[in-house]
Amino acid sequence: MGRTAMQELAGLGVSPGIAIGRAVCILCRRDDVYRFPLAAEEIDGEIARFREAVEVAAAELDGIRARADRELGDELAAVFDAHAVMLRDRTFLDRVEERIRAEEVNAEWAVHETAGELQERFDRLEVEHFRQRRDDLRDVVLHLLRALGGIGHHELSEIEGDVVIVADDLTPSEAVRLGRERVVAFAVETGGRTSHTTIIARSLNIPLVAGLAGVTRQVTDADPVIVDGSEGRVVLHPTDAALLDYRERRRLRRLHEDELGRLRSLPSVTRDRIAVELLANIDLPEEIEDAVRFGAAGVGLYRSEFLYIEKSPALPTEREHFDLYRSLVERVQPHPVIVRTYDLGGRKLAREVMDTREENPVLGLRGVRLTLARPEIFRVQLRALFRACAFGDLRVMLPLVSGLEEVREFKAFCEKIFDDLEAEGARYSREFPLGVMIEVPAAVLIAGELAQEVDFMSIGTNDLIQYSMAVDRNNEHVAHLYRPLHPAILRMIGSTVESARRAGIEISICGEMAADPRVAPVLVGLGLRNLSMRPRAIPEIKRRLRCLEASEWGEISRRLLTLGTAGEVDRELDRQLEALAPAEAAEAP
Ligand code: PEP
Ligand code: MG
Repeated sequence: MGRTAMQELAGLGVSPGIAIGRAVCILCRRDDVYRFPLAAEEIDGEIARFREAVEVAAAELDGIRARADRELGDELAAVFDAHAVMLRDRTFLDRVEERIRAEEVNAEWAVHETAGELQERFDRLEVEHFRQRRDDLRDVVLHLLRALGGIGHHELSEIEGDVVIVADDLTPSEAVRLGRERVVAFAVETGGRTSHTTIIARSLNIPLVAGLAGVTRQVTDADPVIVDGSEGRVVLHPTDAALLDYRERRRLRRLHEDELGRLRSLPSVTRDRIAVELLANIDLPEEIEDAVRFGAAGVGLYRSEFLYIEKSPALPTEREHFDLYRSLVERVQPHPVIVRTYDLGGRKLAREVMDTREENPVLGLRGVRLTLARPEIFRVQLRALFRACAFGDLRVMLPLVSGLEEVREFKAFCEKIFDDLEAEGARYSREFPLGVMIEVPAAVLIAGELAQEVDFMSIGTNDLIQYSMAVDRNNEHVAHLYRPLHPAILRMIGSTVESARRAGIEISICGEMAADPRVAPVLVGLGLRNLSMRPRAIPEIKRRLRCLEASEWGEISRRLLTLGTAGEVDRELDRQLEALAPAEAAEAP
């Protein structure tokens, strides 16, 4: 099949599944325009598309000129004559066409690169006249790219078939937007196991391989690309045999998922009849259907910042918040829905909200710190939440809490909002359970005190690991140090569970650890009875729980806590999991 020898690239398999498609390269760190490698037989068509776009852009410029003439007078309108001349400049047009042919790429990319080259040349010339030409060129390129359809956002509507996004970097919001188009997989140079982009890919059930250094430069032709997010592999120029093999693996995987779905109606209990509630983490509202389908006992974490991310740059209105929260509660009742207040900041749109640049945003204005600092934004969300609380079991949870003051300040702020709602005669409730996320080491150490202030706590291990191990969860260079089974992490979980138990409040875990079938028995052993995870992970975790004895895993976990390294924990855990194999073989499916 491929013109070049098959090539396998190894990365971090962070969102499972297998997909095959044609690559579209996105260089987010540099450009707004995607690169789409073409097959030789597609080149002539692409050049025709480019020529058509030139005509469309020319007509658009003519229209603008005529309007400017009418409204501004001939002298000012003459500026647009320069644009029209430049758009017809043969040297420019020929260079773009040459690039499409020589590099076998889409017209948007060829226009963008050629204009970049010319702009550099203009920049080097000191003469004012050329600087103006550079500005004209920028304008003309914008018209051309718009006519081609590939500007600003990566517009994939012109591309047929399944698309594999190959990117140098990918923000969570780009992943949401692209994931809703015909994108079947992501292959990214950066990233980590619990980055928010990874979490979004998992939510959308799209395989993602991260940490693929240089992959955007390696994809240069139209051959299909295979992405195996389970094994962390990307295959370029696959042979026919490899394509067949991966299609078969994909089929078997889907079959296995369907079979696991049959566990839906079985209770989530261990062999010694200890009930373990499995709840859903929801990022995008449509996932609520998966939560119901896979039998979630409620929503353990709704990441409300994604409502903001989807509406950005606009802020969601009170009505939009309210409608969403109410629909979530009504959809899963009688089960609860835990809405986490905005956890913006860090890598999630802090700049757009705060209008500031931070040197180190992950240690900056994030989570509850940011919302308390921006009461005008927070008020809108809280008003909607308290109104929606009147429609079912809605619970409110604060992210990234590091001290009691934040909880107290929040409560004082709520009082003001209650007063407003009361004065307006609105239907609302002030009787909702309040919880905090335990995701910074300081919160673990004061969990006993926090437990006196709130009704429940949820351990966010994605951040807890990041902040305790000093390992950026988004950084592929230190991904090997991101060890959920490090004894320090297990001890922190154990101690938080103990603090909650002593205070008599509910404790759950909603970090990605809860969705890992290897780790779930340890969490049960450490005393957790509420695990929240992406809905699709529920059946596999349920199957595992139904095969184990909680009391036995209590002993095993206590032993794991005494070990000194993550490696030792890993080995001991593997030994213990092997012993589960016969029981699992007997369990459906
Ligand atoms: C966590 O930190 O574990 C968590 C669940 O929150 P998020 O992944 O959104 O930071
Ligand atoms: Mg977190």
